[in-house]
Amino acid sequence: RYGRAAGSVQLLAVSKTRTAEEIREAIAAGQRAFGENYVQEALDKINALNDEDVEWHFIGRIQSNKTRQIAEHFDWVHSVASIKHARRLDEQRPGHLPPLKVCLQVNVSGETSKSGFAPDELEEAVAACCAMPRLELMGLMALPAPVDTEEAQRRPFRMLREMRDKVATGQCPLPTLSMGMSGDMEGAVAEGSTVVRIGTAIFGART
Ligand SMILES: *Cc1c(COP(=O)(O)O)cnc(C)c1O
Repeated sequence: RYGRAAGSVQLLAVSKTRTAEEIREAIAAGQRAFGENYVQEALDKINALNDEDVEWHFIGRIQSNKTRQIAEHFDWVHSVASIKHARRLDEQRPGHLPPLKVCLQVNVSGETSKSGFAPDELEEAVAACCAMPRLELMGLMALPAPVDTEEAQRRPFRMLREMRDKVATGQCPLPTLSMGMSGDMEGAVAEGSTVVRIGTAIFGART
């Protein structure tokens, strides 16, 4: 419907609050990438599923005292929201693992309660993270405030894509746009999302 190439949007299954058994069902159905928000909860599941070949993505708010565990146990982090946290993840990523793939979270709605870089901080953050040897800067992530109409949903996603086009460099082309959840994925795909983060539409409502 939106002219996107087949295979150009990856499905990240958001498994927070879900059990290892529920994740196994999704793996059996062919899903390979899972997103988690809480470090301890995630580590329990990563351990329980260490016989499975899956990718783990950290998508929650980062606390400084948890960066080591994130750097040691995840393949991706979508929610890098400060240069300080990027630096810690870079320093703490073990040498035997490939560089940690990261996205910078951008506060596209301008809400003071939301974490993320302000648009005018982004260029400097991209330059800083691009130079960190144990990180592979992949792109940008947005978690916009919920709104009702598809046009209103699309606006922050369009902003994120345009910001990416502005701050991308030859050295850091930022191919990833992590945007879209169960309630707004259609607008996100229309605006160029390359990863949709879907929880309830896969696993049902969280209690
Ligand atoms: C929980 C969560 C999602 C998934 O939300 P659903 O509405 O259940 O699809 C996506 N991204 C982030 C950052 C989340 O915390």
